[in-house]
Amino acid sequence: MTAQIPAHKKAKGLPRGNVRPAKDLCSDCGLCDTHFIHYVKEACAFLNQQFDQLETRVHGRQRDLDQEQEMYFGVHQKMVAARKTEPIEGAQWTGIVSSLACKMLEEKLVEGVVCVQNSPEDRFQPMPIIATTPAEILAARVNKPTLSPNLTILEQIEQGGFKKLLVIGVGCQIQALRAVQDKLGLEKLYVLGLPCVDNVTRAGLQKFLDTTSRSPETVVYYEFMQDFKVHFKHEDGSTETVPFFGLKTNQLKDVFAPSCMSCFDYTNGLADLVVGYMGAPFGWQWLVVRNETGQAMFDLIADQIETQSVDSKGDRRAAVQNSIPAYDKGVTLPMWAAKLMGVVIEKIGPKGLEYAKFSIDSHFTRNYLYTRRNYPEKLDAHVPAFAKKIVSQYKLPED
Ligand code: FAD
Ligand code: SF4
Repeated sequence: MTAQIPAHKKAKGLPRGNVRPAKDLCSDCGLCDTHFIHYVKEACAFLNQQFDQLETRVHGRQRDLDQEQEMYFGVHQKMVAARKTEPIEGAQWTGIVSSLACKMLEEKLVEGVVCVQNSPEDRFQPMPIIATTPAEILAARVNKPTLSPNLTILEQIEQGGFKKLLVIGVGCQIQALRAVQDKLGLEKLYVLGLPCVDNVTRAGLQKFLDTTSRSPETVVYYEFMQDFKVHFKHEDGSTETVPFFGLKTNQLKDVFAPSCMSCFDYTNGLADLVVGYMGAPFGWQWLVVRNETGQAMFDLIADQIETQSVDSKGDRRAAVQNSIPAYDKGVTLPMWAAKLMGVVIEKIGPKGLEYAKFSIDSHFTRNYLYTRRNYPEKLDAHVPAFAKKIVSQYKLPED
């Protein structure tokens, strides 16, 4: 008897540059480059929002909307602030992600790690790979702050005979991955999620650097940090900070990808373990353990990190409500006023988990308005219940 060929194997991925099924909303997650395009209608985060089903499948239950912490941060067992006692030089923060990936490979828990190196010509052009050595993982450290087609590697999983895999990725990539996970022939999949917001195409990134940094061509790294400033690092080791409130929002209004303007998975709800910074004190990373698999991953790195409990200070609500029209109209403050505002906000503004909620509220209200205006027919099905509840705390313009 011949084994049946799975239906998706007869499909063919689209050549790069071709329009994808989600059209303008495509985040270039990479699924449609492969024969898994066969499942795009169910799997694509922008064609089929299915948090409830996927959370239940991955974590055994949906997030509890009556508990504020879960409504915001998703299903989780614990949250902690952490940093590596010996940080990795050149990592985005202290290198917890790269260290954990190396450890999982060394301990033979996985045979490969999906991560994002950069192309040889351009430090910010993403090049997803399945790394099979610690050196390849370390070469993928630091963010490539652009849309990255991580799931282009899906066909290589079977071709390479991988049975145990770690995937590092942002929310839209992980939603599509979870939807096709059972078709990959894996015995064990580990998912290390990064929070993600306001991502851009490579061209959009250039516009952001050109309008924001004093020396766009020498930027090697940047991050929007908890002190309400964008921190740039340059090739010569110097740093540059620009207050959020001084960003040229009028010029940057269209720079973010439409996918990211309509995304509500900021904190990567379907990962096993999330490593970001937004809920932690300045300089620390923020770890969210979602399930048993995430806890096992956390345990592997425990002897390489120091930790402290997460804290929450301030009240974000008035600041969020006031920022809604500013975001909407693309208001830019003169630099002296932006700096002053930054100093005041840093002193009395939201900190820790309250800062994370500030950022979620600001982005979800903005994205809700964007989706309502540009994709009204999709609004109801596309916005997950938790995001609707978060947005309903604020008064939005009627338009
Ligand atoms: P490192 O050890 O330096 O490893 C970085 C990892 O990121 C590498 O494994 C690499 O494979 C992966 N990576 C790089 N670029 C991409 C990409 N484009 N897509 C997918 N994976 C990639 N955290 C927050 O708390 N709030 C945010 O708003 C936020 N936004 C982010 C936006 C983007 C586009 C990315 C990639 C990450 C974002 N993060 C955010 C996560 C945060 O910036 C750090 O990546 C995370 O804390 C890990 O730091 P690290 O030093 O441990 O990582
Ligand atoms: Fe395909 Fe991914 Fe684009 Fe959706 S976001 S259309 S799944 S490449």
